[in-house]
Amino acid sequence: MSSLPGLKSFHDLHIWAMSTTEMALTVHVVAEDGCGLNDLIEKISGELRHRFLIVHSTIQIEAPR
Ligand SMILES: [Zn+2]
Repeated sequence: MSSLPGLKSFHDLHIWAMSTTEMALTVHVVAEDGCGLNDLIEKISGELRHRFLIVHSTIQIEAPR
């Protein structure tokens, strides 16, 4: 996940099972300056869905410090 363009780093990653078949995730993401935030969120949630079968993700975007 850290190889995504526009993604600088992430922290506070939590993953838990909602049921025997569904997983949920929350994560704080630090975006690169000037990257398209909507695109970044879509890429991350797409990656989570395809690679980890996580259908419910909550992504908090933070500016680099
Ligand atoms: Zn944070």
